[in-house]
Amino acid sequence: TYGHNMDEALSFIKKYDRFLVVAHVNPDGDAISSTLAVGWLLQQWNKHFVMVNDNRVPSRLSFLANSEAIYISERHPDAKPPAFDAVICVDCADYERIGTIADWIQADVPILNIDHHPTNNRYGEVALIREDAAATAEILFDLYEHGGIVLDVQAATALYTGLLTDTGGFRYSNTTPHVMEMASKLLQTGVQGNEIADRLLERMSYAQMLLIKRSLARLDFTQDRKIAWLHVTPEDMLETGALNEDLEGLVNYPRNVEGVEVGFLLKMNESGRIKVSLRSAGLVNVAKVAQHFGGGGHVRAAGCTLTVPLEQAIEAIIEQVTEQL
Ligand code: 5GP
Ligand code: MN
Ligand code: MN
Repeated sequence: TYGHNMDEALSFIKKYDRFLVVAHVNPDGDAISSTLAVGWLLQQWNKHFVMVNDNRVPSRLSFLANSEAIYISERHPDAKPPAFDAVICVDCADYERIGTIADWIQADVPILNIDHHPTNNRYGEVALIREDAAATAEILFDLYEHGGIVLDVQAATALYTGLLTDTGGFRYSNTTPHVMEMASKLLQTGVQGNEIADRLLERMSYAQMLLIKRSLARLDFTQDRKIAWLHVTPEDMLETGALNEDLEGLVNYPRNVEGVEVGFLLKMNESGRIKVSLRSAGLVNVAKVAQHFGGGGHVRAAGCTLTVPLEQAIEAIIEQVTEQL
C-alpha cells in the first residue's frame, strides 16, 4: 500500500545531487540511526550530502559508523550553511523539530519527509509517513528492500539500532511480526545484536545513575496512584554531571509502577522552560495530552514544552491526563 510513496521517495533521492540530512533535536537512537542509514544510501549512490543535527550525538550512540561525521550546529553557531539542493528529514513529526537547522533552509528547497509519528503534519514535497512503523528505521528498511538496495553490516547496524531503541528492546506494543522479521534479516547480515543491546539498554553512565538516585527520591503520585511523575532541576544536572542524554529511560520509572496509567518527567531548564516527557501504560493517548500543549508524539510516548512554574506544569498535565482517563 505504500509502494507508490516509496517510489516517490526513491525518485526524490535519485533526482537531486546535494542533500542535507537531518533528524529531530536532542536525537534518540532512531533519529541518529535513520540519519546515518540515509547518509549510507547517499554514499552508495555517489551523492553529495551533509548529515546535520541541532544537538550532539549521545555518547552511547557514538559507536555507530560515521556518527562523528554528523555536523552539530550547536557547536558552530555562526557557521555558514553547506550548499544543498534538497533536504531529507527523518523521524521529525513536524518541521520545527529540526530546530535551528531550519534557519539554513530556504522556503523553496524541496523536502523529503520520512517519519512514523502519527502526529506528523506531512510537510515537504514528498512525505513517506507510516504510522504503522515502529521506527523510522523500519520505513527505511522497507524502502531499501523495495528499491533492491542490499545492506552491508554498517547500514544494517544503524537500522537495527533504530529498531531496537524505538521498540524499547523489542518490548513495546509496536513490536510487530514485521519488526521481528526485519530484525532477523538484519542479524543475518552480521549485526551484533547482543552488543548493541548491552550498550543501549543495560549500561548507563555513572552520572545517569546519580541522577536516577536523586530524582527517584522525589517520585510523586496522584491520590489514586494512576499518575506518577518525577522532576529534574538544573542543579541536579550540574551536581551529577549529567547531560540531556542521561535522562533517557528516567520517565519509565514512574510509568512502570503497578497501577500507574501515565508517568511523566519534567526537565526544568535554566531558561524557565520545562520539557515534559509522557509515557502511557496503554489506556491514555499521551500524544493527545502533548498536543494540547503544542507538542506531539505517539500514543504511548509523547512530549511537549511548557513555560510555567513547576507546580503549575504538574497540575496542568495531571488535569489533561485525568480528562483522558
Ligand atoms: P521523549 O519524551 O522521549 O522526548 O519523546 C517521546 C516521543 O514524543 C518521541 O517520539 C518524540 O519525538 C515525541 N516528542 C517529544 N517532545 C516533542 C515535542 O515537543 N513535539 C513533538 N511534536 N513531539 C515530541
Ligand atoms: Mn525519535
Ligand atoms: Mn522514531
